Amino acid sequence: MGRTVVVLGGGISGLAASYHLSRAPCPPKVVLVEGSERLGGWIRSVRGPDGAVFELGPRGIRPAGVLGARTLLMVSELGLDSEVLPVRGDHAAAQNRFLYVGGALHALPSGIRGLLRPSPPFSKPLFWAGLKELTTPRGKDPDETVHSFAQRRLGPEVASLAMDSLCRGVFAGNSRELSIRSCFPSLFQAEQTHRSILLGLLLGAGRVPQPDSALIRQARAERWSQWSLRGGLETLPQALNTHLTSRGVSVLRGQPVCGLSLQAEGCWKVSLGDSNLEADHIISAIPASVLSKLLPAEAAPLAHALSTITAVSVAVVNLQYRGARLPVQGFGHLVPSSEDPGILGIVYDSVAFPEQDGSPPGLRLTVMLGGSWLRTLEARGSVLSQELFQKEAEKAAATQLGLKEPPSHCLVHLHKNCIPQYTLGHWQKLESATQFLAAQKLPLTLAGASYEGVAVNDCIESGRQAAARVLGTEPKS
Ligand SMILES: Cc1cc2nc3c(=O)[nH]c(=O)nc-3n(C[C@H](O)[C@H](O)[C@H](O)COP(=O)(O)OP(=O)(O)OC[C@H]3O[C@@H](n4cnc5c(N)ncnc54)[C@H](O)[C@@H]3O)c2cc1C
Repeated sequence: MGRTVVVLGGGISGLAASYHLSRAPCPPKVVLVEGSERLGGWIRSVRGPDGAVFELGPRGIRPAGVLGARTLLMVSELGLDSEVLPVRGDHAAAQNRFLYVGGALHALPSGIRGLLRPSPPFSKPLFWAGLKELTTPRGKDPDETVHSFAQRRLGPEVASLAMDSLCRGVFAGNSRELSIRSCFPSLFQAEQTHRSILLGLLLGAGRVPQPDSALIRQARAERWSQWSLRGGLETLPQALNTHLTSRGVSVLRGQPVCGLSLQAEGCWKVSLGDSNLEADHIISAIPASVLSKLLPAEAAPLAHALSTITAVSVAVVNLQYRGARLPVQGFGHLVPSSEDPGILGIVYDSVAFPEQDGSPPGLRLTVMLGGSWLRTLEARGSVLSQELFQKEAEKAAATQLGLKEPPSHCLVHLHKNCIPQYTLGHWQKLESATQFLAAQKLPLTLAGASYEGVAVNDCIESGRQAAARVLGTEPKS
């Protein structure tokens, strides 16, 4: 009888792992177990009454680099080319990003000329931060917070305005707690290898073989900054589900895994409440902290390491306005913690993807709330009502974008523990987990947003690499 691989979690990481397992020349039997009734995890798209698409989770995927290309290849293999909505390089959503500081929106400078000009909210042209960066020696610590790294290399303003906002925009996190090594590995590596981030960016990381397809070539030729799918990004997990089912993968929904135990023969028993599954190997694509509670006593050291990988919550408020106009055109703006501890930023969804505006078209925005404001409310056990988030989001849209009329449509979702936090020393947690798995020869492989990247591309790559490890085919770097 062939091997059985059970994949835990039907988010994009678990779906990608199952996809790559199912496409192997001699695929094992694959069972994907999802706890909820829906696949896709945080990827969720809903339609408004006028057909407008509202993304409750991710709204754009970056095509850049080898990981971006691999995701586009998968999109083509799933037959989704005609559904792709690109943001081309010459579009406002590709070119303009803003910071909201001191009660005003400021365009982030782009190009060499932009670096030479004064660019408020920064007190001096960013050229000077670049000069400091080029002359700063290499750091000696094995890890550093994002804030300390940015302050040391680029100065206090770039650290407290730009990097603080970036950490809030990507991780909903605190730059004074997050790790540069794990959150922005390319910046960390550039310093290690070339002594400078700028030199590293100029010299590059060496050529990595890229996959090729018509869609990838188009994305490169048109310099896409990101892309979505016509019906929303949830089309991707839905297409993966159809593909998996056609390849004989058993996709179980509404079946939360409630325990894992090791059998004498070295295989796993996966408890699903009133039934069990047997597995020769498990790929876990559920959050690390959830897995830590399912592991058996024999894996206590691993469970301990995983339990320390925590996550933060984000409130996502989708707003739609009739007959309203934005004061600026761009991808959106970020808000540093010094300006507002609760509003992380606002994405101008209609600028990037007007095709999803519905009929008649309405202006769509997404306000993201989180940060220390939300953490304090959660810690106090405050009532986190939909009304509270809606009120704060509408207030932000009014003060930051001048949208004073009430929205015509509003959706509010509090995503609890949705973004893992790679805090200082995260790499050591990964190392101890990897060492334990190798030393104990546990038939368990970790994938998902908890480990090496939260972006959709990173999650898909983690699933691909997990599948390659299980199949014994070396992942191509
Ligand atoms: C609000 C928000 C906006 C984002 N925006 C972007 C963006 O624009 N671009 C981008 O690239 N990335 C973005 N991200 C990040 C990205 O969407 C996520 O990191 C990614 O979707 C996580 O995928 P995953 O499969 O690793 O985890 P998850 O999506 O968390 O999937 C895990 C799955 O496991 C299931 N599960 C949990 N416990 C069990 C159990 N006991 N048994 C069985 N199943 C279980 C869950 O139900 C879930 O379906 C965003 C994330 C959020 C939250």
